[in-house]
Amino acid sequence: MSLDIIKLLPDSVANQIAAGEVIQRPASAVKELMENALDAGATHIDLVVKGAGKTLITVVDNGCGMSETDARLCFERHATSKIAKAEDLFAIRTMGFRGEALASIAAIAQVELKTRRKEDEIGTCIINEGSVVKEQLPAPVAVGTTITVKNLFFNVPARRNFLKSNSAEMRHIVEEFMRVTLMNPEVAFTLNSDGKELYHLYAGNLKQRIMGLFGNAYDSRLLPVHQETGKVRIDGFIVKAEFARKSRGEQYFFVNRRFIKHPYLHHAVEDAFMEMIPKDSFPGYFLNFEMDPAELDINIHPTKTEVNFLDVKLVYAILHAVVRKAIGQHNLSPLIDFETTETPEIDFGEVVKASHPIVQPNVPFDASYNPFGNKPLQPNPTFRHDFSQEKPSSQGDWRILYGDRTDYSENHDVNSDSVGQKCNAQFIQLNASYIITAMKSGILVIDQQLAHQRVLFERFLSQMENRTVHTQQELFPQHLSLNINDASLLKEMMPDLENLGFQLEMANATTFVINGTPADLAGLDAVGLLEKMLESYKQNRGDLQLERKLNLACTMAAQLAVKPQTNLTDVEMQNIVDQLFACEVTDTAPDGRKIFFIVSVDEMKTRFS
Ligand code: ADP
Ligand code: MG
Repeated sequence: MSLDIIKLLPDSVANQIAAGEVIQRPASAVKELMENALDAGATHIDLVVKGAGKTLITVVDNGCGMSETDARLCFERHATSKIAKAEDLFAIRTMGFRGEALASIAAIAQVELKTRRKEDEIGTCIINEGSVVKEQLPAPVAVGTTITVKNLFFNVPARRNFLKSNSAEMRHIVEEFMRVTLMNPEVAFTLNSDGKELYHLYAGNLKQRIMGLFGNAYDSRLLPVHQETGKVRIDGFIVKAEFARKSRGEQYFFVNRRFIKHPYLHHAVEDAFMEMIPKDSFPGYFLNFEMDPAELDINIHPTKTEVNFLDVKLVYAILHAVVRKAIGQHNLSPLIDFETTETPEIDFGEVVKASHPIVQPNVPFDASYNPFGNKPLQPNPTFRHDFSQEKPSSQGDWRILYGDRTDYSENHDVNSDSVGQKCNAQFIQLNASYIITAMKSGILVIDQQLAHQRVLFERFLSQMENRTVHTQQELFPQHLSLNINDASLLKEMMPDLENLGFQLEMANATTFVINGTPADLAGLDAVGLLEKMLESYKQNRGDLQLERKLNLACTMAAQLAVKPQTNLTDVEMQNIVDQLFACEVTDTAPDGRKIFFIVSVDEMKTRFS
């Protein structure tokens, strides 16, 4: 009996494993196929998907096409016509994966390739399933290439099961489509999903491409950025400060036209905008860094979007300065006469020299942070006072909330719980932020904002369950235009939002009309609120329904609760306190912060002893 235990994996299995490195989800196949079409010199590329790419992905291009032999060869691992270009600017992300994309896709899907070169009279059609050529026929097709990928991961069920919902996978595809199309504005693209055309992008310049993807409103929102220094050229647009979004929106960095993520450089833009956009808003940008690949650290996984710069501090300093300059020119423009006045020039030599004192910002965040912890929504027995007066039923804006309750203190036996206390004003407001009241056993100090957050949070949660809110029809409906991914998220949130009293309608794939808002939230900034809710929803998104509702209720409560430094009347304080102690949970705000503390009589005694 042999003691050898090492066996060689069959080729088909090895291919499938390798495929997993390159193709993680339908969007990765989309990216590879679109890049191949661009490499083939196409000027028009159509992307068609069905079932978020799980069922079908087709890319049609009018590029150079392939010969019969090449059509067969292209599915072989390490088959590439691009060796000569391997060192070129595009190398930064596909390095190590030259000639592996089609082989990988064919290993895990059913692929049909139709292709013809200009010089050939007839083209070729090849069907390849799980790395096996099933059919090869001459085919009368147009010049260019059409690749159809069906049933991705059909032979790797574990991976197929690992895919997310169609809406989530579709968001990945759209994001990939945007990244590729943004940096190739001279090429026309369409995207069609389940028979619906989502994008129709005409050939043009970057600005036109941005408008094609994100809406014509961007025509007046963009500021051009252009700077050439020794090591790097930065080109593109930033979004004017006044159009910064509450929701993390259009933030695109590219290096040599390849999309990258770079939190450190993101900070440079954010910092350059500082004080010009509100704390809770995000700057938008579309910026390409053109530089020698030798200046890049490519020693990272090729399918990842992280790239590092050998001299990242220098790039940071230049980026910071050009964004400042673009903003500065914009802010000056109404005041100066362009014919005669020079806008301030930045000496980039100086910037570069001064670059070393800039300290790498430390931007820590906890991606797994869940503001709701594991705290169950349990009644808190400690403070079950008998505030048997009805729970006030109007909602939302606290001013409106209390406006109709001036009779409250008259009906309420103010002394039922304060025997031994001699004070006409039941509540004292300290620093316009804290409500202080005496109880039998001590002094209660309540944070007004956190208390109100808890009250609103529980109310919004119950509204989502029971749909008890009325909607106020808007005379002049506002429009909310989003990118397609945010739009699809908002669409998911719509049923809950309707229960909260919003009435939304989709004008097109990316624009919502706000026809109605919760009747008791008059004067509300609905657009701002919805953008905020979207942002928070993205950050805390979970698959559980409950999480979504908690998330929505929490954001809306935080947004609408009375702020610190707000003077409250006695009646308003009374109402906050009463409603707080009618809540399921009374001691912590939805985000876990403590709402009040008590200084007990015993504690006072010891202080005076
Ligand atoms: P790579 O792009 O790294 O070379 P791929 O597996 O993506 O590897 O493609 C293999 C080869 O197939 C390419 O080098 C190219 O010659 C050919 N090819 C793939 N897609 C197309 C297309 N759309 N048009 C023309 N040729 C293509
Ligand atoms: Mg390729």
